[in-house]
Amino acid sequence: MNPLVQLTDTHAHLDGAGYDADRAAVITRATAAGVTHILTVGCDLKSSQAAVELAKSTPHIYAAVGIHPHDAATANAETRAALQQLIVSSDKVVAVGEMGLDYYRDRAPRAIQHNCFRHQIALAKEVNLPLIVHDRDAHDDVLTILREEDAAAVGGVLHCFSGDIAMAHACIELGFYISFPATITYPNNDALRAVARSISTDHLLIETDCPYLSPQKFRGKRNEPAYLRYTAEKLAEIKGLSLADISRITSLNAYRLFGIGDIDQSARIAYAIRDSLYLNITNRCTNSCTFCAKFKDWTVKGHQLKLEREPSVAEVRAAIGDPSRFREVVFCGYGEPLLRIDLVKEIAAWLKEQGCKVRVNTDGQANLVHQRNILPELHGLIDTVSVSLNAADAATYQHWCRSRFGEQGYVAVKEFLTLAKAHIPEVIATAVALPGLDMAACRAAADETGVKFRAREYNELG
Ligand code: SF4
Ligand SMILES: [Zn+2]
Ligand SMILES: [Zn+2]
Repeated sequence: MNPLVQLTDTHAHLDGAGYDADRAAVITRATAAGVTHILTVGCDLKSSQAAVELAKSTPHIYAAVGIHPHDAATANAETRAALQQLIVSSDKVVAVGEMGLDYYRDRAPRAIQHNCFRHQIALAKEVNLPLIVHDRDAHDDVLTILREEDAAAVGGVLHCFSGDIAMAHACIELGFYISFPATITYPNNDALRAVARSISTDHLLIETDCPYLSPQKFRGKRNEPAYLRYTAEKLAEIKGLSLADISRITSLNAYRLFGIGDIDQSARIAYAIRDSLYLNITNRCTNSCTFCAKFKDWTVKGHQLKLEREPSVAEVRAAIGDPSRFREVVFCGYGEPLLRIDLVKEIAAWLKEQGCKVRVNTDGQANLVHQRNILPELHGLIDTVSVSLNAADAATYQHWCRSRFGEQGYVAVKEFLTLAKAHIPEVIATAVALPGLDMAACRAAADETGVKFRAREYNELG
């Protein structure tokens, strides 16, 4: 198993009788398939108790306790007290659920489902644990109850998500994650794949919901955590990422929500996304963009980028290792790489000696910083430079990007683009699709400088 693939199954029902004959083998197969952590989820009091027992006896298994809407009619004050007891009995209980509404089967009267759901949200808030929400054909009522009960106070996950794009975004606004099961692998499920495509990777989780919902390859047979990989692979394909990327991202998300998993959050100097290697050499920047993700969170695609100090040339080389493994090496990170022009030149020269393709992502103000035209110095060292233009005029640029040079910053960016063509084979001006930004005008501004233009998505880095 690739050590970079460590998956967390955030929703399994391992207590089910269907596993009585071979539960230990199922758990072993999961580990062998790279599923390093499993959250086993209760549906009623009995299965919640069984989930907690399993979690207590297996280090990498955790439990959620709750009452499924199918069983809502069995819940009363006593059951709720028993759930609360279970929660305090073990720190392996990391969530309350599954709970929610199921109007597809309507096994319990809807009013009773509502009550049971509301009571469990209150319980989760009392014990300060996130929710695992089941929603089948009840999207509007689920959202209404989550809002009315202020579920945002603890957050949680919409498991086996089956709503549309608008619903997914409404849940994310409430601080919820969206979890995808193997139904995303079913050939006719384009709608679900469209939802996955539309949401930022920061909000994604994966699950099996085993023994139900086997991936396409095993459809109709019993599901198990080892098959989680098929969902991860499909999600990677949909998001244009590698399996290792999806593994790292969804494991970090599971850690953030449930506190489970072994997460390496040490600062990265070099970090891989897809088949590119990115270099994070400084956190300093000439700009202070209003939309910069680092002001909220220093991770990019699961990599932690907040440096304790700026790395030396030797440290950057050591972090790169063998660069021939990558299609390209990109100076990027949460800072302006050309502030460290000397290091960029030295590392780029070393990379070029080894036949690597080298790119720099920059805000294009290096000539103001260094008080000289640095572009001739990059001649022969850099194959591509990608410059954030982000506006069609200086005032708009300053509004969004807040250059320390004021509106002069924008003038410098355009001049940088114009001058870059003589020294760097590929020069691209980019603009983030900020709300209200006139993309056509940005493209025209890039045209004036004679370089290519590329629009980038808002809120999706790396
Ligand atoms: S230029 Fe990039 S790193 Fe710097 S503040 Fe703007 S978005 Fe963040
Ligand atoms: Zn469910
Ligand atoms: Zn379930």
